[in-house]
Amino acid sequence: MQTTDTHEPAPRPVIEKRSPVTGELLGTFPITTPEEVDAAVRRAREAFPTWRDTGLDDRLRMLARIKDVVRTHGEEYARRISEDTGKPLVDSLLTELMSIPLFIDHYRRTAKKTLGRHRVPTPILFPGKASYVEHFPLGVVGVISPWNFPFQLSMVPVLSALIAGNTVVLKPSEVTPITGEIVDEIFRRIGLPRGVVEVIQGDGSTGAALTRAAVDKIFFTGSVATGRKVMAEAAKRPIPVELELGGKDAMIVCADANLVRAARAAAWGGLVNCGQMCTSVERIFVVDAVHDRFVAMLEKEVRAMRVGGPDEHADMGPLTFPPQLATVERHVEAARADGARIVTGGARLDRPGQFYAPTLLVDVTPQMEIYREETFGPVLPVVRVADEDEAIRLANDHQYGLNGSVWTEDVDRGLALASRLECGQVMVNDLVAIVGNPALPFGGVKNSGFGRYHGPEGLLSFTHQKAIMVDRGWLDFEPFWFPYAGKYDAMSQVFHGLLGGNLPKALYAMTKLRSLTKR
Ligand code: NAD
Repeated sequence: MQTTDTHEPAPRPVIEKRSPVTGELLGTFPITTPEEVDAAVRRAREAFPTWRDTGLDDRLRMLARIKDVVRTHGEEYARRISEDTGKPLVDSLLTELMSIPLFIDHYRRTAKKTLGRHRVPTPILFPGKASYVEHFPLGVVGVISPWNFPFQLSMVPVLSALIAGNTVVLKPSEVTPITGEIVDEIFRRIGLPRGVVEVIQGDGSTGAALTRAAVDKIFFTGSVATGRKVMAEAAKRPIPVELELGGKDAMIVCADANLVRAARAAAWGGLVNCGQMCTSVERIFVVDAVHDRFVAMLEKEVRAMRVGGPDEHADMGPLTFPPQLATVERHVEAARADGARIVTGGARLDRPGQFYAPTLLVDVTPQMEIYREETFGPVLPVVRVADEDEAIRLANDHQYGLNGSVWTEDVDRGLALASRLECGQVMVNDLVAIVGNPALPFGGVKNSGFGRYHGPEGLLSFTHQKAIMVDRGWLDFEPFWFPYAGKYDAMSQVFHGLLGGNLPKALYAMTKLRSLTKR
């Protein structure tokens, strides 16, 4: 008997993208399957030799076309990024789009020096030789990005890897697929050859497939939990990983700080992007002498915040996706139960979408969950400390070490305190802006990850280093080659001459080696 297969092919899984402002469905995005991930990596592999051999100047020239695309379409992109994330249009322009031309310009000025071959010293032990270091690209780089700055945190690592001569497969966050589409569109618009940048939309399963695929490095930005999985997978081959993870940034307000500026900064640094920022101010240490005055000023700033969607000219939008709102609610409730006082805010807003009131908490202590874990929401936890020493001790005694800031009128003292903080970036009398300077390296310590991007490291980390040594043919002998017979005494004099700082003795002994080496 003949049977007919009545099974329909399983429907393709999709990402359902909902508005953070209204909750309405904005669209569906097909999830890339593991087979399609492998195919994207194969296309990137095929494109690699040509892209590598294109040469730095030409690569930079092609990538600089992005500046025109961003200038022409930037405001449209800003609207779409805001629709995707809920962030104010001002933030989309400033923190997402504007940084990209800055990075391209910076690397157009500096990449040649960073990536070019350079000479390094050669010890006297090797007369007539010259030493060099040069770099070559890794191959295919997998970039996995998060949803909080979905454009910038995709574009910067992708561009850095491309400038260094790699091809890239990017997996943007499933929470912000509209921005993933924009990134894809930009690379199509500048007409890069097929396979140089492949954008694969999908969720954690797609990210996991990328870490298993034949890539040569994974550049990952996201949570500690996922970072561990990425690293475990990379360890099997092994391939290098770079992990840009979470933070719990300390802001230290000294007794001699400009309190007005510090309070305004705390409000912006903790609430911009609705606090969903790895460089968010998440712990504010204020010395006892100015604590109450500072809190009063900060309360005024927080109460003045306008909250709303991108069309409402608000200072702060909603949380980007529902689980983040749940984390914020849990942290604040637990803090309240454990003795923290809510000065203002502390509840979600009575409207559709994931809106939570900008919140100021005082009497926060290191035992509380809101102190120990990353909140990633619009909450400013204030900790009263006796002095700066206690603030530094507490700031450092934490699982995270991404950013920090120190507030004092005495800049030298500020710099001295900055040096004592265990984290990747510190600002004195400012915050967040440090991320926007493409000349400065960026990255974390402890659970905030490792590796650096931006600055020269941001290109070098996408390369292998190669050491080269050249014999220029100045000498007609090699003192240390065979035969060894009769050489021990002269060798011993070289040894003691060099180690004892008696260079003439060492050089004289080397001429003796010459006569013993020449056949
Ligand atoms: P996440 O770890 O949930 O997801 C990050 C990315 O990893 C997403 O694209 C996701 O799809 C993918 N992913 C999920 N499971 C995976 C797996 N098993 N293998 C491979 N990829 C997988 O993080 P998130 O919620 O998108 O981002 C928020 C976190 O990112 C916060 O902790 C924040 O502090 C951190 N972050 C760090 C920086 C930094 O520069 N240090 C910048 C921004 C955000």
